[in-house]
Amino acid sequence: MTKHIFITGGVVSSLGKGLTSASVALLLQRRGYRVRLQKMDPYINVDPGTMSPFQHGEVYVTLDGAETDLDLGHYERFTGVDCTRASNYTTGRIYSAVISRERAGDYLGKTVQVIPHITDEIKDAIRSLDGDEVDIAITEIGGTAGDIESLPFLEAIRQYRQEIGRVNGLFIHLTLVPYIKAAGEMKTKPSQQSVGILRTIGIIPDILICRCERPLEKEHKEKLALFCNVDQELVIEEKDVAHSIYEVPLELAAQDADVYILEKLNLHVNRLELGDWRKMVDTLISPKNGRVEIAVVGKYTSLQDSYKSIYEALTHGGIANDVRVDIRMVKSRDIEREGADSRLAGVNGVLVPGGFGQREVQGKIQAVQYARENGLPFFGICLGMQCAVMEFARNVCGMSGANSTEFDAKTSFPVVDMMEEQKKIKNLGGTMRLGCWRCDLERGSKAHAAYGKDRVQERHRHRYEFNNAYRDRMAGHGLRFTGFSPDSELVEIVELAEHPWFVACQFHPEFQSRPLAPHPLFRAFVAAAVGARHG
Ligand code: GLN
Repeated sequence: MTKHIFITGGVVSSLGKGLTSASVALLLQRRGYRVRLQKMDPYINVDPGTMSPFQHGEVYVTLDGAETDLDLGHYERFTGVDCTRASNYTTGRIYSAVISRERAGDYLGKTVQVIPHITDEIKDAIRSLDGDEVDIAITEIGGTAGDIESLPFLEAIRQYRQEIGRVNGLFIHLTLVPYIKAAGEMKTKPSQQSVGILRTIGIIPDILICRCERPLEKEHKEKLALFCNVDQELVIEEKDVAHSIYEVPLELAAQDADVYILEKLNLHVNRLELGDWRKMVDTLISPKNGRVEIAVVGKYTSLQDSYKSIYEALTHGGIANDVRVDIRMVKSRDIEREGADSRLAGVNGVLVPGGFGQREVQGKIQAVQYARENGLPFFGICLGMQCAVMEFARNVCGMSGANSTEFDAKTSFPVVDMMEEQKKIKNLGGTMRLGCWRCDLERGSKAHAAYGKDRVQERHRHRYEFNNAYRDRMAGHGLRFTGFSPDSELVEIVELAEHPWFVACQFHPEFQSRPLAPHPLFRAFVAAAVGARHG
């Protein structure tokens, strides 16, 4: 039987509930249990696919093509277990399922209500994780205790635990214990109140994980235990980590958080195998080969979360090369205003990530040109590849004004164009080319050298493609096409022959990079940046 853990958050958002869930999952996995993770998001969008990265951060794409919350990226990076459509539900998704059933007449004349119909739908979503191959399912509830939107989800998990029984279900509440500088004190009151809110809806947390800047003293633990109704050893501290998010599981393990969880769930406490994880964290903290600096050029640089998986994958590339990767976030608008040199001078590599919309594309194209002309390692991803193609067409092949039809429908050189099957589509939600597709690699290319194989599977999220009408003309000028869809129709990777490392791909390799299994292209890109540093 699959056991369930429910993780809620209190006091404020952005406490790192996703990271905590992923860390707990990793520890249980490393005690020999098969885990799955899932996130419930209380907003009304059916998925985050239509939301701006400024609103919501990165949209994470699963193998099966779901556009999901970026916490799923943490789940996959920590546990290595692939998420699916069943790993992320929103209020919108739950309600649309219920409403379609109502329209189909499936409720047989009943009044359709939040309780039981919406809560049943949520419980079905939780139950969808059950299976012979899953020992422990972890469900993270987005939002903060006290939000109106999250009430149906909290009611659903309350009922769920009641139905499966105490030894089969566990509530973990992640809360904040702030340090008030003026008073010189840590305050437990917000956590008490947050647990109070949960109590009024019938949820009594079994374990409190306390985010804090400073260590929790014994007196804080005593207070929290007494007023929140948890055992003292079940008040766990999650202090801000010094170097890397990958330290979080180690901090939790040092307090035996995983042991208490297993005991509560009546599961055997097997040996904890974290050797490879610790080694990875050590490499990350004290790499032997110094540092490289990589510029990430985009328009969403002001929000940390917008390029989450890109930053993580670069860090993984650093682990693979035993080097620290410092990321210089460069706003493409600044390049447009001040020139590429002023913003990119001194970096060891340039990465242009994915994106949407015409604004600031010019700055990205200037960044490509700078990398190409200066022999700086360049990595283009999705829109980054499309920019590389536009730049090469304009500046090398003499196709002035070459563009993507996403930005200029009337360009004389539509080197990037909408895929045929996309032209008929009206709805924006969930209709891009999404999920995993096979890509065949050309032998002798940099991509092939990086992957060390002929075929790969990579995740996609785009509507536009390289326009094959320009293949021969651009190849004649030195653009190499080195990755294709199985029918050779879609160009998936382009490279420059006469350049130390210039690789751009239409897919999103960052979604498949893991700290313990850095993505081959990120590994090779960072290696090239190390090479560029030694000049
Ligand atoms: N806007 C481009 C497209 O739709 C690129 C998308 C992306 O970078 N993810 O094709």
